[in-house]
Amino acid sequence: MTTDSMRNTAQDPVQHPAQPELLGLLVQAVGAANVLTDPDVTEQYRRDMQPLASAGRPLAVVRPASTSEVAAVIEACTRHGVAVVPRGAGSGMTGAANAQDGAVTILTSRMTAILTIDAAAGYAVVQPGVITLDLIRAAEAAGMFYAPDPTSSDWCTIGGNLANGSGGPHGARYGVTADAVLGLEVVLASGRVLDTGRHTIKGVTGYDLNRLFAGSEGTLGFITRATLRLSRRRPALTTAVAAFASVEEAGRAVTDFIATGHSLVLLEIMDRACFGAVETHLGSRLLDEGGTPAAVLFAQSDSGTGVELTAFEDAARANGAILSFQTDDPAEGEMIMGYWRGLEAALETLGTWILHEVTVPRDKLAALILRAEEIAAETGVFVGVHGHAQDGTVHPMIVYPAATAGASDRARRAYRLILEAALDLGGPVTGEHGIGRMKADYLADALGEVGLEVHRAIKAALDPTGTFNPGSMFSFSPEERRTP
Ligand SMILES: Cc1cc2nc3c(=O)[nH]c(=O)nc-3n(C[C@H](O)[C@H](O)[C@H](O)COP(=O)(O)OP(=O)(O)OC[C@H]3O[C@@H](n4cnc5c(N)ncnc54)[C@H](O)[C@@H]3O)c2cc1C
Repeated sequence: MTTDSMRNTAQDPVQHPAQPELLGLLVQAVGAANVLTDPDVTEQYRRDMQPLASAGRPLAVVRPASTSEVAAVIEACTRHGVAVVPRGAGSGMTGAANAQDGAVTILTSRMTAILTIDAAAGYAVVQPGVITLDLIRAAEAAGMFYAPDPTSSDWCTIGGNLANGSGGPHGARYGVTADAVLGLEVVLASGRVLDTGRHTIKGVTGYDLNRLFAGSEGTLGFITRATLRLSRRRPALTTAVAAFASVEEAGRAVTDFIATGHSLVLLEIMDRACFGAVETHLGSRLLDEGGTPAAVLFAQSDSGTGVELTAFEDAARANGAILSFQTDDPAEGEMIMGYWRGLEAALETLGTWILHEVTVPRDKLAALILRAEEIAAETGVFVGVHGHAQDGTVHPMIVYPAATAGASDRARRAYRLILEAALDLGGPVTGEHGIGRMKADYLADALGEVGLEVHRAIKAALDPTGTFNPGSMFSFSPEERRTP
């Protein structure tokens, strides 16, 4: 990884035998202004938000505006044996959208149209570059609700959400992005356009290709349009917070609440390291006495009945909560959720942060947090855990001084140890962020021999030329990469 990164910092443009002819075709397809080759300009599209992942130097970065432009770009690249990397906002945490040497990065930044919001039928049709929050707001304006809500929704794109199968705090109650997909339009390596779509709530015609492309991390095709399920707008939110003197008590409160059969629209956990950083940053403490709690749970209900929050408070109190408070006043709710939202800004002040993602069985949250504390001590970097308590997907935050010699290696070690701790506790390799470049080493073991063969067969069937994102998810050796 180090050698790769060092090589890729060179400023020479990557040479490729197909370069002049292909660049001419790209200009024909999208116009000269939308074919970026100046390394100073393309630099901003080389990496996503994962500082530890390697990145190459692209032949070009192109900005198509329509399905036919995407198709022309991809057909030309495939014909010239040049790989493509689809890229949304670059908010990913696995390096999956990182540039590859000599490949063409295709942006969705000019494909931002919300084409249809059909409240009566309950769906929206969008281009892939739509910012998730823009769709959430457009749905709200039509009296509807778009549920998938990655915490990065104010800048990530629907295309990236689909390709990563992204979820968020609403996931346990309303499902993740894959659950909202009714149909997709996808440009394949040949440049042909596949329509997997329907507009109806039900539909089981043929294989479930929507599910195949959702979570495919840009390795099977380029999503150019999506039909997504909308539901009715929710009543106003009510909010609760509970603080605990021990992580184990917080963990038991979560499992006891889940056992009641109720579900919340949001149930987030934050450990002492994360919560303390937020308190320091905001200059405000949750508890008047007793210092920073060992763990805090944030809860929100959208049922309009209050039943779920009462069940939550009962579970919190029964497990020794040192503070338990609920409110239906929106301003108080916002004040409480300000502690939850403040984390990223708080960590920004401490150094370079990595938003890790691991998923564990829900009754193992406390065990993971305690192991993360040990890993912080072992590696000498900051590790704090927060995340979605109802589905067991949590985000250990690693913060390190990137400019200090050896700090990146310690951060990388912490990253691996945390992932291995989650695997030991019975979790999958990823529950939310995807594989990308960061977890590719773990994929073969996780899938097993047959699973890997099936994955490779699907990849070969849909992308026989290895055009899509070859450096990410599961790597194909150069011999396996065939050109027509
Ligand atoms: C602060 C922060 C909070 C986050 N919170 C969450 C969270 O709560 N839940 C969560 O799941 N993730 C979260 N993430 C990770 C990230 O935001 C999501 O994975 C998001 O879905 C990525 O969207 P993007 O547009 O930035 O995609 P990118 O990072 O640009 O790309 C991601 C993947 O999608 C592929 N891709 C992009 N567009 C297309 C397309 N049109 N067709 C085919 N493939 C495509 C890329 O090749 C790449 O493999 C967070 C990240 C940050 C920085």
